[in-house]
Amino acid sequence: MDVLEKAVAGERLSEAEVLSLFDLPLPELAAAAHEVRLKKTDPEVVTFLIDRNINYTNVCTVACAFCAFYRTKRQKDAYTLGYEEIAQKVEELYRVGGKRILMQGGVNPELPLEWYLDLLRYLKGRFPDLRIDAFSPEEILGLERLTGLKAEYILEKLKEAGLDGMPGAGAEILVDEVRLKAAPARIRTADWYRIVDAAQALGLYTLASMVIGFGEGKGERTAHLLGLRAQQDRALERYGNGFAAFALWTLQVEHTRLKGKAPGATAHEYLKTLAIARLALDNFAHFQPPGPPWASRWPRRPSTTGPTTSGAPCWRKTWSRRRGGTGAPTPRCARSCATSWTPGSSPQKGTPSTASSATPTPRPSSASPSP
Ligand code: SF4
Repeated sequence: MDVLEKAVAGERLSEAEVLSLFDLPLPELAAAAHEVRLKKTDPEVVTFLIDRNINYTNVCTVACAFCAFYRTKRQKDAYTLGYEEIAQKVEELYRVGGKRILMQGGVNPELPLEWYLDLLRYLKGRFPDLRIDAFSPEEILGLERLTGLKAEYILEKLKEAGLDGMPGAGAEILVDEVRLKAAPARIRTADWYRIVDAAQALGLYTLASMVIGFGEGKGERTAHLLGLRAQQDRALERYGNGFAAFALWTLQVEHTRLKGKAPGATAHEYLKTLAIARLALDNFAHFQPPGPPWASRWPRRPSTTGPTTSGAPCWRKTWSRRRGGTGAPTPRCARSCATSWTPGSSPQKGTPSTASSATPTPRPSSASPSP
């Protein structure tokens, strides 16, 4: 049995076998990934969400070289949104049928823990059925440093105040050598896993993500995938609550200090890595493709590579606009984006849910955020 047959049969691939996938041609990888996707989820269904990214502050002290979003607090266009401004954005979302926000910002030392707790209480008080996935591991680490409190306690308080889940942001490539080159102050691999583990222990929704194009090799991409797989095993076994989905993006270097210094990744490379992820992450049911500006620049995907779920990709978003995205608020895009990845599937509006030890079985659910 060769390595692709083994993956399609549902057998776990070793590190050497995952590494060997990078030398195989895309059509073979894509066909195998599609086979696996058909076995793990309903072949007829691809799900999407109508949700919205809200970036509550762009003030950040981490200063990642790949980030076009952050500002120092003294820059003219530095901002922190007020609660009312955030609520207005939620109202706009409700008007088009969405009830979930993904809220992330910079690591802003001017915002105490009470600011976050009060914000969550305010939003849940005003929108009781709002689903809030917010504050990446980097922001939680920032709160640990600011308050001297442990992530477990901070997350528990945030959950009590209304937090439903944590975005998968900040993962990029979970290999410290890669992270140190791109962003020396960025959250380290061990801290990312520690904080995600604390969120999973509390039953919060979490997403696994990956960004390629920093100049990392296939060994580092393999290490990232196998690290996520090991965490998924751990979380499902200990808490019955693992990552709901896996999302992959390519590095966008426009307007960043990495322009000309990092190679980025081609669409072909993206599709190969996505297919390899589907084959390597045997304990994940759902894969989320990117929306604009990424997907809109690519030709129609030549064959399916495993995605089953899509977040709403088309809302205005500061990062997206700065990277050349349209920012057009058209929830209809979510439906068409979802089906463009899996032609012939029926798009169904999903609800974000956590992965449980009962997965994977065919079920339309769980879509997740953009980076
Ligand atoms: S990626 Fe996040 S942590 Fe890094 S500079 Fe940008 S906002 Fe700050």
